[in-house]
Amino acid sequence: MKNIILTGDRPTGQLHLGHYVGSLKNRLMMQDDPNNKLYIMVADMQALTDNAKNPEKVSSNILQVALDYLAIGLDPEKITFLIQSQIPELAELTMYYMNLVSVGRLRRNPTVKAEIEQKKFGESIPTGFFVYPISQASDITAFKANLVPVGEDQKPMLEQTQEIVHSFNHTYSEVLVEPKGVFPAKNMGRLPGIDGNGKMSKSLGNGIYLADSAETVAKKVMSMYTDPNHIHVEDPGQVEGNMVFTYLDVFGTDKEKIEELKEHYRRGGLGDVKIKRYLIEVLEAELGPIRTRREEFAKDPAEVMNILQKGSQEAQKVAANTLLEVKKAMGIAYFS
Ligand code: ATP
Ligand code: MG
Repeated sequence: MKNIILTGDRPTGQLHLGHYVGSLKNRLMMQDDPNNKLYIMVADMQALTDNAKNPEKVSSNILQVALDYLAIGLDPEKITFLIQSQIPELAELTMYYMNLVSVGRLRRNPTVKAEIEQKKFGESIPTGFFVYPISQASDITAFKANLVPVGEDQKPMLEQTQEIVHSFNHTYSEVLVEPKGVFPAKNMGRLPGIDGNGKMSKSLGNGIYLADSAETVAKKVMSMYTDPNHIHVEDPGQVEGNMVFTYLDVFGTDKEKIEELKEHYRRGGLGDVKIKRYLIEVLEAELGPIRTRREEFAKDPAEVMNILQKGSQEAQKVAANTLLEVKKAMGIAYFS
């Protein structure tokens, strides 16, 4: 059987190296397996749940995210790219699923809880934000996805979808497919930010973006957090927690050279500027070709939007089919 896989991103900014190692590279692998059918969704409706007063931030980033996808080599011949808001069936499914989930259950979702804290909503949680786990269930089930690649923090979302699937199939009839999560390998944790503080994240301003110019990447690497006690070149330095070596471990291909550099750094006599120059080279080898492709695609934004439109139309047909099955199962497909 073919796997149906749904994944995507909120268009709240450009994609960075964290996204690249944490999810985009995995998508490149998945697209090349003929047993996989991939849907990649630009989740603008979800982004609007906490950006309602700033819709321009969301709409303007749709093209940016699509350019990032194409730049890294995700292929519209193999993947269906869609924009969430252009498929009204997804919102309609959400209305029906909401009746299967209690407010108490939504309140207990640990990811939503943490995000409500982090976003400082207090008593003013937007209702749309509060129910976004239900909206995710609609996205996943509309395409009958059986696999959903997710980070550890998204586990509760997947569980919510599984519960809705059970409840629906039990209450009405077996229409929905229960999705399984595909989790990142244990050793592939989160890429930290260039400041060494937590993970690389759009909202923390500690990222290197796929679209960054070579100059910007170089500047960011030069400002990277290393070993604060490694003051003079001859001082012994620490490799652990030193972002330059963390990144070299993730992006470097010459493992032998990296081990030598580590030893030299630990002994003393190897300066930060030297290792940073090497990291710039290593990152450039990966980012250079991506940047060039991105600039090519950026010359014709209409064509990129065309790819998203065609994908959305194709996806809508699938979602409409599922919605009809759902309505039939509920006994509300009055006219068909
Ligand atoms: P925001 O600051 O708006 O939360 P973000 O930069 O943290 O944005 P998300 O949109 O939250 O990015 O991330 C989407 C997905 O990308 C995550 O679920 C994860 O799979 C992957 N990802 C994001 N940042 C990293 C990272 N630093 N390391 C590894 N994977 C990451
Ligand atoms: Mg995040």
